[in-house]
Amino acid sequence: MNVIIFGPPGAGKGTQSEFIVKKFNLFKLSTGDLLREEINKKTTLGLKITSIVNSGSLVSDDIINSLIENIVSNKNYNKKIIFDGYPRNLSQAENLNNLLINYDQKIDIVIRLKVSLDVIKKRITGRVMCSKCGKTYNTFFNPPLQNNQCCKKEFLQKRDDDNEDVAIKRFQTYEESTEPVLQYYKKMNLVKDVNGETDIDTIYRKISDYLSVIEGWLCRITPYKYIF
Ligand SMILES: [Zn+2]
Repeated sequence: MNVIIFGPPGAGKGTQSEFIVKKFNLFKLSTGDLLREEINKKTTLGLKITSIVNSGSLVSDDIINSLIENIVSNKNYNKKIIFDGYPRNLSQAENLNNLLINYDQKIDIVIRLKVSLDVIKKRITGRVMCSKCGKTYNTFFNPPLQNNQCCKKEFLQKRDDDNEDVAIKRFQTYEESTEPVLQYYKKMNLVKDVNGETDIDTIYRKISDYLSVIEGWLCRITPYKYIF
């Protein structure tokens, strides 16, 4: 099973994909990780990427595609990939589709975590960290308890880029760039919406249910549904 997970920044996509990777024994493919790895290995391609990044340019789709092909063609990861943060645009989605076909694979399901801008704003602008112990909180959803001796109000700090303008901008960029990609997968009937505004466990169970069906794990319980 190959999976794509979509969700705006602050939707909890990272947490959920970690859970899924463990439960379903998948390989998490994030282009950021692939690029960093290549840079660290100092391969010919890695050095090329370093100079592109240093010059402030964006790494081309060609380079990204060849990094992705390395993973897709690897037998260890055959039909075991979860794509996180990729594809970001329509041409990447089409490329990925062709690439998977070449290796006799496909995308089986696209999970879209749905979270409203309002909730995202609170998740991002409410994020604080205790400067004494490093624990993180959210002033809206998970404030420090009253009797906490360490993490008092005066020690709670915000990150500069955790402000509302940045949150809105990131959300809009996400919406605009992923919309055509989602339409592409909707036409293939692959998109499943998951409410990302509930708690982590509920979200995880919902995603798990969808993936279990794909894996055929539920066949043993309700085989008749799949026979006809
Ligand atoms: Zn503290």
